[in-house]
Amino acid sequence: MKLVGFDGGRIGVALEDGIVDITALSGVPAGSWPPVGMVRLIAGFDGLRDAIAQAVSDGPRLDPAQLRLEAPVQWPNKLIAYPANYQAHIEEQITSKVGLISTFKASGQGFFLKANSSLSGPSDPIVLPALPDRDIHHECELAIVIGKGGRDIPRERAMAHVFGYSCLLDMVVRGREERVMRKSFDSFCPLGPQIVTADEIADPAGIELELRVNGTLRQKASTRDLIVDIPEMIAMASSVMTLCPGDIIASGTPAGVGPVVGGDVVTISISGVGEMSLPVVQGTAGSHSVWDKPEALSA
Ligand code: MN
Repeated sequence: MKLVGFDGGRIGVALEDGIVDITALSGVPAGSWPPVGMVRLIAGFDGLRDAIAQAVSDGPRLDPAQLRLEAPVQWPNKLIAYPANYQAHIEEQITSKVGLISTFKASGQGFFLKANSSLSGPSDPIVLPALPDRDIHHECELAIVIGKGGRDIPRERAMAHVFGYSCLLDMVVRGREERVMRKSFDSFCPLGPQIVTADEIADPAGIELELRVNGTLRQKASTRDLIVDIPEMIAMASSVMTLCPGDIIASGTPAGVGPVVGGDVVTISISGVGEMSLPVVQGTAGSHSVWDKPEALSA
C-alpha cells in the first residue's frame, strides 16, 4: 500500500487510478494541530485494515494533479539518523577537502537526531539558509518508518517493526558546529512522496537509491552496502529509546554528496519506494553570529 499526506493534514491511499481519502479513519480531522493523523493511522493500522480495504474498494478517486502532497509523516515522535553508514561515503569524506578525518562509522558512532520540524514534503522547496560562505550538501537516504513500537528490539525481530519506507533528503550545512544545528533548518528533511508499506518491498537489503541534481547523477547505491543494516539500526536505536509508531530512521547517505545552490532541482529516486523532485531556493533567514568564523568542515 502507498500512503500519502496531502492538502493540510489529509491522508490518502495512492492507487493506479487516483487517491482515496482515508483521513477520517485516522481519527484526526484534517487541519488539526499537531498534525498527527499519519502517526495515529500507523499506530492503529492493524485494526484499520478492513476499513481501509473498504475505502479503497468503493471510495471516490481524487486526481493527484489536483492535490498538494505533503510529508507523509509530519509530527513523528523522533527523527533518527545514522551518519557514516556507507563505506564509500566515509572514504570520500576522508579524502575530500574535509580536514577532519572521519574515521568513525555508524557501527561505532551510533546515531543522532534531526529536529522533527526540519521535515518538509514533496511539494515544498528546499530553502537554503543565508550562509553564503558555507557549502550546503544533499544526502540521499532511504527512510524507514516504524510501525509497531518497542524498546530493546532484537535484530531478529526488527523487521516486524518496519511499517514502510520513503525517500528522504538529509540536508546539511558543512562545518564543525553541532550536527543537530547544521542539519535542522526548516525544509532540511524532505520526506515523500509516499510511504510504501513493508509488504511491497521484497528485499529491503537490495533497495537501489539515486540522486540527481539538475538531471546529473550525483549519488547511486544499494542498501546492500549499508554498514549498519536495517535490522541493526532498529536494534541499536531501540536499545537507547522506545521507538514509537511513525518514528523515522534516516539510514545514511552513500558517496557522492555535494553542494546545492538556489535554482537547482534535486531528484531522489528509490526503487519500489518512489521519486520526488524538489526545487532549491535561496532563502533570506538563517544568519547568526554562530556561523561567523572561518569555515571548518566536518562530516
Ligand atoms: Mn545523513
